Amino acid sequence: MASKAKIRAVTGMNDMLPTDSARWEFFEDTARDIATEYGYRQMRTPILESTDLFTHGIGEATDVVEKEMYSFEDSLNGERLSLRPENTAGIVRSAIENSLLHDAPRRVWYFGPMFRHERPQRGRYRQFHQFGCEALGFSGPDVDAELILMTARLWKALGIRDVKLELNSLGEPSERAAHRAALLEYFEAHLDQLNETAKHRLYLNPLRILDTKDPDMQDLVEKAPKLISYLGEGSLRFLSSLEHQLERAGIDYVINARLVRGLDYYSHTVFEWTTDRLGSQATICGGGRYDGLMEILGGKPAPCVGFAMGAERVLELMGEFGVKPEAPDCAVYVIHAGEGTLDPAVAVAEELRDLDVSTIVHGGESSMKSQMKKADASGAEFALIIGENEAASGTVSVKRLRDRGEGARFAKQETLPAAEAAEQVFSELLDIETKDL
Ligand code: ATP
Ligand code: MG
Repeated sequence: MASKAKIRAVTGMNDMLPTDSARWEFFEDTARDIATEYGYRQMRTPILESTDLFTHGIGEATDVVEKEMYSFEDSLNGERLSLRPENTAGIVRSAIENSLLHDAPRRVWYFGPMFRHERPQRGRYRQFHQFGCEALGFSGPDVDAELILMTARLWKALGIRDVKLELNSLGEPSERAAHRAALLEYFEAHLDQLNETAKHRLYLNPLRILDTKDPDMQDLVEKAPKLISYLGEGSLRFLSSLEHQLERAGIDYVINARLVRGLDYYSHTVFEWTTDRLGSQATICGGGRYDGLMEILGGKPAPCVGFAMGAERVLELMGEFGVKPEAPDCAVYVIHAGEGTLDPAVAVAEELRDLDVSTIVHGGESSMKSQMKKADASGAEFALIIGENEAASGTVSVKRLRDRGEGARFAKQETLPAAEAAEQVFSELLDIETKDL
């Protein structure tokens, strides 16, 4: 007989286990609520897109497109496809395809998996998740500030502290061209100090050399001409208006002249939120203005700004601050054993669910004692017990499973008419909820 090979998850791709779901849901719910508070609407685009979308929409000379994309040919029709490494290009494609901006600008948010073929390590996976917002058709800098305020509010709501906001301006295309010429001249004069990647990027995208992490190039890069000194009056005004709005909102930031998201269609604002608690995977959120992208992807020009944050890194950082949401499996666990007990068990559970109380009915047959253990392990506040006596007399026994002090209702098991059980348990649960607030 052929041996059965154990099939494992793809390297760098993780399962979200039921024991993790409370943390993820807390993050997703909080992010969604805050985006909604700012008037952003959810958008979902396919995980699979034409490879061209990303080569045009992210740029050839970037890590993502050069070496991190999962691209393949669809064997059924020969199309070149890629798993999305990020969602901005997809959102812009869809906005163009569906004429989303024909009557008004749009604020949208998304959450979902992204794929990059990187070396897996803490905070860096091949399938990871991003929450992001895009403000499409807004020229800023008011909306740039709004997005940053939103992220700051999110950190607070998630219990995250000590994150640093780094800010820079990439100015206008003409300003970047002047800076690029100066950069080229500078790097050409120091060719011997460039590593292979930098040499490769020199004529493709010299701006990207500035964000190298190669320790041997730090000194060189530190002394390179700074884009900020090539900014004209308009760009400087844009930046100082954004700075002013951040200051008004009490948000600290530092200007980092080396912060680039070196794509041709980026302009003005770029920002990153970083932490020193996650080792080298320090950036939890990156954003910026991409006024040129709509046009590059074949749409009418429209100024846009957005951010994306890595959910895995944000969750890990929440853990660093002791934020580890857990949730019980249910509030009520219904135990039933013996002839004729299943029907009343299901009936009382359905009544509880009518009242929005999460309720598990024990599945399968086992002894009262073992069901009681399961009830306890589920984290439920109450066990409802239906044995043959209860079934015969139309009653339910109720037992509180958590210690709520002396005198708490149902601390001692009580038997009551089945018709009253759901209501009474419900009102006890309401009581705890208000007390816990
Ligand atoms: P890095 O410099 O860490 O590679 P990046 O510049 O490639 O980040 P962006 O494309 O700006 O990242 O993506 C936005 C955010 O998504 C990052 O700040 C990070 O939090 C998260 N992220 C990016 N790549 C990964 C990954 N492979 N695994 C987990 N999170 C990621
Ligand atoms: Mg990367």
